[in-house]
Amino acid sequence: MSFEKLGLIKPLLSAISDLGYENPTLIQKRAIPLVMAKSDIFATAQTGTGKTAAFGLPILQRFRNTQATENRPLKAVILSPTRELSIQIYEDLTNYAKNLKVACAVLVGGKDIESQQRTLKKGIDIVIATPGRFLEHIERNLDISQVEILVLDEADRMLDMGFTKDIRKIHPLLPKKHQTLLFSATYSDKVRKLSKLVLRSPAFIETSKKNSTVDTINQVAYLVDTDKKAALLAYLIGSRNYPQVLVFTRTKVSANELFVELQKDGLKCGLIHGDIPQAKRLKTLALFKEMKIKVLVATDIASRGLDIEELPYVINYELPSVAEDYVHRVGRTGRAGRDGEAISLIDIYEKYDIREIERVIGQKIPQDTVEGFEPDPNIRRKDVDEKKLKSEHKKPEKKRERKYNKNTSGLAKAKLSTKKRKTTKRDAK
Ligand code: AMP
Repeated sequence: MSFEKLGLIKPLLSAISDLGYENPTLIQKRAIPLVMAKSDIFATAQTGTGKTAAFGLPILQRFRNTQATENRPLKAVILSPTRELSIQIYEDLTNYAKNLKVACAVLVGGKDIESQQRTLKKGIDIVIATPGRFLEHIERNLDISQVEILVLDEADRMLDMGFTKDIRKIHPLLPKKHQTLLFSATYSDKVRKLSKLVLRSPAFIETSKKNSTVDTINQVAYLVDTDKKAALLAYLIGSRNYPQVLVFTRTKVSANELFVELQKDGLKCGLIHGDIPQAKRLKTLALFKEMKIKVLVATDIASRGLDIEELPYVINYELPSVAEDYVHRVGRTGRAGRDGEAISLIDIYEKYDIREIERVIGQKIPQDTVEGFEPDPNIRRKDVDEKKLKSEHKKPEKKRERKYNKNTSGLAKAKLSTKKRKTTKRDAK
């Protein structure tokens, strides 16, 4: 099926043809007619499947004839979890709309709210926003009484990031009769719950197996000791001559540390995480896209919304703490049917995490070692030793605790409970 057959108008067809889109992707084939028919949608779509155009094109088409008056009311709202993703969607929509008079704006935190208000006053049809900033605009009297479409993009991530409250606040403020399109890469209970609240008789679109990764990505996990990970990473990048690689860490602290290490190895790299100011993040991303820096070290917050053309390699320096995030991370590569490679460097502590990931994606990730970086068989998990130690002393420890609890104040109990927490598996890392 062609884009013409989907009923898209010429100005849009010519814009997407300029972008090199020849045929609609599966999610586009299925969603575009439903969006045009004003149906609510619940779509589970993998990252990189073309979902922005799946909702963006029919929305632009619907509002193409809106009178370009000042202060005109808003028609469509697209909520996304991160600033980067919002800006990416805005850029995509602006490209699609280049032959139309539809006006889009992006409303994200970290930018001057008054200047955003001035933009809105000029007359905007579609906004792309993060939930928190959109609420702030509503509190400042943004007129949402004429909104016809709400899109919740990457809904699973919005919920994971704690936006549930904001979405629950925004939803009842919209006109009773509006169309809602919910897109989510994963299919969690939280998402299902939200869908019950915001969708009316939705059409379900499932373009892939639940939580499965993109087929064109080659996945491999290299076993390595924790303290050799940075050296292995530098070795892989250098010896295999990777032209551009996105590297994920689990925390901001390890992202900072790795960034310093890689620079010591003489690699040109950039750093993106939640503590880095937005302007700097965007600048780094632009340099990475232009291939002026070779390695981009990022935390999961940055994994959404990064759309880099033909990114061939993603390396998980540390596995994500939430297994579903693996799907999002590796979704940065192999976009729109291209080949990609996702490498995970796993130490002895991550052997269990990878099993959980394999369960979620429903496939095995082959494990291997790199010559010169094989794990030392004498290194044992610290927490395994601690567990053993604990079980040896289990009875007396329990008795002591019970006796102590009876006579302690609340404060002492709180202290005791932090003490107990220190022995958990995760903290032992
Ligand atoms: P998305 O899933 O919306 O982030 O899109 C992933 C990438 O695929 C982006 O670089 C899009 O520009 C590109 N893309 C979307 N639709 C098509 C299409 N029909 N043909 C080729 N590329 C596409």
